[in-house]
Amino acid sequence: MLKIDLDTCIGCGVCEANCAFAAITMEDGQPVVNEKCTLCGSCVDNCEVDAMVIERETKVNQVDLVAWSGVWVFAEYRNGRITPVTMELLGAGRGLADTRGVKLAAVLFGSELGDTAKDLVAHGADTVYVADDPAFAHFTDDAYGNVLTDLIREHQPEIVLAGATAIGRSVIPRVATILGAGLTADCTDLAIRKEDGALLQTRPAFGGNIMATIVCPDTRPQMATVRPLVMTPRAADDTRQGEIITVTPLAMRMQSRVKVIESVIAESEQANITESEIVVAGGRGLDGEKGFQLVKDLADAMGGAVGASRAAVDSGWVGYPHQVGQTGKTVAPKLYVAAGISGAIQHVIGMQSAETIVAINKDPHAPIFDVATYGLVGDVFEILPKLTAKLNERKG
Ligand SMILES: Cc1cc2nc3c(=O)[nH]c(=O)nc-3n(C[C@H](O)[C@H](O)[C@H](O)COP(=O)(O)OP(=O)(O)OC[C@H]3O[C@@H](n4cnc5c(N)ncnc54)[C@H](O)[C@@H]3O)c2cc1C
Repeated sequence: MLKIDLDTCIGCGVCEANCAFAAITMEDGQPVVNEKCTLCGSCVDNCEVDAMVIERETKVNQVDLVAWSGVWVFAEYRNGRITPVTMELLGAGRGLADTRGVKLAAVLFGSELGDTAKDLVAHGADTVYVADDPAFAHFTDDAYGNVLTDLIREHQPEIVLAGATAIGRSVIPRVATILGAGLTADCTDLAIRKEDGALLQTRPAFGGNIMATIVCPDTRPQMATVRPLVMTPRAADDTRQGEIITVTPLAMRMQSRVKVIESVIAESEQANITESEIVVAGGRGLDGEKGFQLVKDLADAMGGAVGASRAAVDSGWVGYPHQVGQTGKTVAPKLYVAAGISGAIQHVIGMQSAETIVAINKDPHAPIFDVATYGLVGDVFEILPKLTAKLNERKG
């Protein structure tokens, strides 16, 4: 929390002038902080007499680790449905909760949620905290963050997981900051350390060249965002029983400084490469927009989505939503065709979980062949049109 030493304060009003959130007002020559404070620290940085300090709550958490128990998954509900990463997190969370001998809960915010909570139980949750309110019809990180923070404070889970999606990446750091909790972003593996039950959070580091395992031993909850498509969801079991708890947040906590005027589905969602069972991806070897069209033609013939290496995206042959890899998307389709892609680690990290990988490259020593199930050594300009023609021929 923000603390003001009124004996040191000279009442200059610089903190009020510099607060972007109108969270400080000068009353009788003294600064007064209201509930809009986000602990951004701007007043602390600007105070010339060091009268302001932010005290994090980490110390409170540090001394009482055992009071925090249970695994939570932030369930992401978007465009009228639950996101696939939520089910993947429930699969992973179930394993962690069973290892710890604790309950797995999901937290679900949205509007007109229908039977979604039951679905979460079928996929592994023991408890679902549901806030179904028109205020949650659109995602805003302050309203979602406030209510999630309140629930975490009340129930004290030891682990909180969310998808490393635009929403997860926006709201979870806010919550972690307010709680003074440790957060590891973009995890690709999670496990429990036997000795003390700490969460081992593994993620690629240094450009994907090493995998770092991060532990937050002193703070609770241990928070992680997890990349979509790296964890395995459990099959739905409609006979599972769970507790669905309706949460009624204070109206004030659901208020947002952001007013959503219109919500438009972005190209990234239309591109859909993370959900397609077939992805045909092209790289620099396609040598231009015209060459890249061969990849699109094959994807069309196969009924698949178009993927790309960063080189192809940077060259402007296809949009960023199609990029696969460390700074793009992770995909795990049944079939991944990599055409004219060398197989740099930053690309491979985003597609190596595909069931079958077919690589086409004229260089027999290209690293992509190390991860390929089938390799075609040859020219993409000869092979791709032949494959497309053959498939179209078969389709009649
Ligand atoms: C921090 C960081 C993050 C990154 N994130 C990503 C990411 O998310 N995704 C990503 O893809 N990259 C990423 N990169 C870039 C990555 O390191 C590579 O530079 C990139 O993947 C190379 O793309 P490419 O394979 O298409 O091109 P190249 O490496 O140039 O390979 C082109 C391949 O095409 C073959 N070829 C050429 N002509 C033909 C032909 N006629 N027929 C058949 N084969 C042919 C060549 O033999 C070669 O193997 C990242 C890099 C950094 C540093």
